[in-house]
Amino acid sequence: MKKIEKRAIMCLMLAGVLVIGLGVFAFRYIKDGSSWATYTANKQIYTDKGKLKKGSLYDRDGTLLMSNNSGKMTFSDDYNIRTATVHLTGDRSGNIATGANQVFANKMVGYNPITGTYSLTGKGRNVNLSIDADICVTANKALAGRRGTVGVYNYKTGEIICLVSSPNYDPTDPPSSVDSESGIYMNRFFSSSFSPGSIFKLVTAAASIENKSDYASWEYTCTGSQSYGGSDKVTCQEAHGTVNLEKALAVSCNCYFGKLAEALGPDIMKEYVEKTGLTISRDVNGISTKAGSFEFPESGINLAWAGIGQYKDLVNPCTMLTYMGAIANGGRAVQPKLLHNVEFSTGIPASLPWKSWTKRMIEEDTAEILKNMMRNNVEDNYGTENFPGLAICAKSGTAEVQKTDRPNAWFAGFLNDEEHPYAFIVLVEKGGYGSQVAGSVANTVLQEIVDKY
Ligand SMILES: [Zn+2]
Repeated sequence: MKKIEKRAIMCLMLAGVLVIGLGVFAFRYIKDGSSWATYTANKQIYTDKGKLKKGSLYDRDGTLLMSNNSGKMTFSDDYNIRTATVHLTGDRSGNIATGANQVFANKMVGYNPITGTYSLTGKGRNVNLSIDADICVTANKALAGRRGTVGVYNYKTGEIICLVSSPNYDPTDPPSSVDSESGIYMNRFFSSSFSPGSIFKLVTAAASIENKSDYASWEYTCTGSQSYGGSDKVTCQEAHGTVNLEKALAVSCNCYFGKLAEALGPDIMKEYVEKTGLTISRDVNGISTKAGSFEFPESGINLAWAGIGQYKDLVNPCTMLTYMGAIANGGRAVQPKLLHNVEFSTGIPASLPWKSWTKRMIEEDTAEILKNMMRNNVEDNYGTENFPGLAICAKSGTAEVQKTDRPNAWFAGFLNDEEHPYAFIVLVEKGGYGSQVAGSVANTVLQEIVDKY
């Protein structure tokens, strides 16, 4: 009898393991099935002879960016569109990790867990992106071959309307040899991180507003440099005199923000880079953004430089853009998205439009104060005449990379305009001064967006 009991228990245990195993498989099948099916080694679903084909990729206006209908990747007839969007379409060799044939493969072949990759029509599905190809062309021309990136998104809906990474190339005529320094295959907007320079002062300012009761009246007298013992000193372009937070942000006083970072201390600085999501990798429709990184020493000159956006600070452009959106949107960030929807080859929607999550990053009052300060930056320093007709709020950055190189130029902010709720980020590597170089690129792109939408 004992023997039978033992065997029965054993059988039950085996059955239990089987049920658990089936459960795990079913979960993985639903979650990862599309990735298994569209794995690049599954050649038969990508070739002419296979039953399935991938569809095409369009921008928000229905402008064709890339098609797989002939059995191989073909691109727009327009050279300017091909080059400006190559980091979104990818090329035939699969060199670009953020290219649609890689990241949206499961959507373009129309995979679903019931019918797998089988399609009744034998055609793939079409993917509509949120970007506007014409605006991307304008942004790419404004970068004029310089390395960098331009991103613009609607901070209420999350739609990325403009995304360009430079250097880029014509995917129908890819470079035969690539200089590894150039990072030509790299989508700088999603996959890189850079020293933020003074655009990071907005994070230090937010930490001050929310932690120092005397943040508005807390002053410092800038003589052009602040010594930290020996030859260690934080320097400014000129002596800014006595400045408070608003003035220090407008003139971008390094000495003030260095002292402020010391007054706040490393724990609060750490808390704020985490709160604003700058240290994490986020998912944008299947594309992972590069996580930023920071180090805040206990005290001294390196803590000061870290609060100014130098030292070891690194930020990802897409994440920084999301933070700009949070300031514009009352402290609540809307996650950027690149996908609008997916359609069957007949034009019938195969998906609902993608919804973006929202997350509170800063208090509503803090966002309002920062917004006013960023408007003051434009009025007091960058010049409203450089942005005619735009309700622009911004912060420039001039980030030193190496002593011998020209600094990276940044310009980040948003339009405080209900009808045109767009946040933007511009980086021109080795561009020189932020507000002049990157500011002019931002103006060119935003003028076209406001004219068109
Ligand atoms: Zn100063």
